Amino acid sequence: MNTETHPALVGSLSSTAPSEKVINFSPGPTSLPKAVEAQIAASFNKPGFTSLSLSHRAPEFLAILEHTIATAREVMAIPDEYEVLFTHGGGHGQFAALPLNLCTEPSDIATYVVNGTWSARGRDEANRYCDVHTIDASDPDTGKFITFPELTEANVNVDSKYLYLCSNETVNGIELHRLPKLPEALQHIPLVVDASSDFSTKPIDWRGCNVGVLFACASKNIGHPGLTMTVVRKDLLGKASPLCPGVFNYTTNSEAGNLWNTPATFNIEVVGMVMDWLVKEGGVDACERRSIAKSDVLYDVIDNSNGFYATPIDNKTLRSRMNVPFNIAGGDDALTNKFLIESWDKGMVGLRTLTPFGVGDYLRASLYNGVTIGEANILATFMRDFQKENS
Ligand code: PMP
Repeated sequence: MNTETHPALVGSLSSTAPSEKVINFSPGPTSLPKAVEAQIAASFNKPGFTSLSLSHRAPEFLAILEHTIATAREVMAIPDEYEVLFTHGGGHGQFAALPLNLCTEPSDIATYVVNGTWSARGRDEANRYCDVHTIDASDPDTGKFITFPELTEANVNVDSKYLYLCSNETVNGIELHRLPKLPEALQHIPLVVDASSDFSTKPIDWRGCNVGVLFACASKNIGHPGLTMTVVRKDLLGKASPLCPGVFNYTTNSEAGNLWNTPATFNIEVVGMVMDWLVKEGGVDACERRSIAKSDVLYDVIDNSNGFYATPIDNKTLRSRMNVPFNIAGGDDALTNKFLIESWDKGMVGLRTLTPFGVGDYLRASLYNGVTIGEANILATFMRDFQKENS
């Protein structure tokens, strides 16, 4: 096949490898754990209705909703003073919903840590609804995002209604392995967290880190697009701007028990299946251990490659366990294409997908719940062999 037009180079996921050999390293949407995918398939063959055909007000669906919320609370140790909402509009919906719910007036202040593409996007959206104060963490010389700043009274506006951060920058590969604890003088400010690409893969200290709102679009670790889990501390309800649309209004949706309008019924059932799977697989601590093991094997190959592979984040305490960015021979086009085609032929897909931010300087291996340790090892072995043959 002409390498210029090879499907691997345009983000195709349809590898010609036997289906049992295909591994989806996409940054999301992506595959769920195989056991969950099998459960979804089996649910279509059972007698009775699936949640695709259940009224959202039928008792059968209410049981599904209750189960998903209860299991999510159990897995993520969400305390009682938090409401679990299933919201519409994906992560972007929450970018707008946050200031509309937490800032009653457009003059209310919110501080945003911008250390990657998604926090920048969240900040830009909030700019339309409140007075945004930005902590710009980009490198002053290169403009690149490679770090996370210390948060102090010097950079966080003390009058902020909330302090926003993204706990895993999916594109840049920067992850906070634990949420920050703010210094005393800032502890009155609720933390707002975009956990879209790392939710369910490590514990969250809800109270200790003063989490006010945490949201996660489902399509990476916990389900499919069309649903976002938004966890809101109850004392933050009732503060919305009068302009906040009903579907985005946390208070309206909480008072209506997630049924103010029709929720994404099937997606809610799937999140419940993923939560059941997490319980079965040892809970969030075991999930974190798997995430560490999966990402370690790839970072080890990169760090021991004498520069054949490189990853942008030097600080190991900030390296993402979810999305491992890497380039080959300094980004050499011919070698990168060869790598993409050969890995794709062997069934490793999703290493280069198109994003709203273009193709990017790095390939990326995403290691969400759908990827096993064994599968991460297959990629690591391929990377080592590829280096041997091409350097
Ligand atoms: N935040 C993060 C960290 C993301 O990775 C993404 C999606 N890749 C979004 C927000 C946007 O989510 P959505 O496409 O569901 O609006």
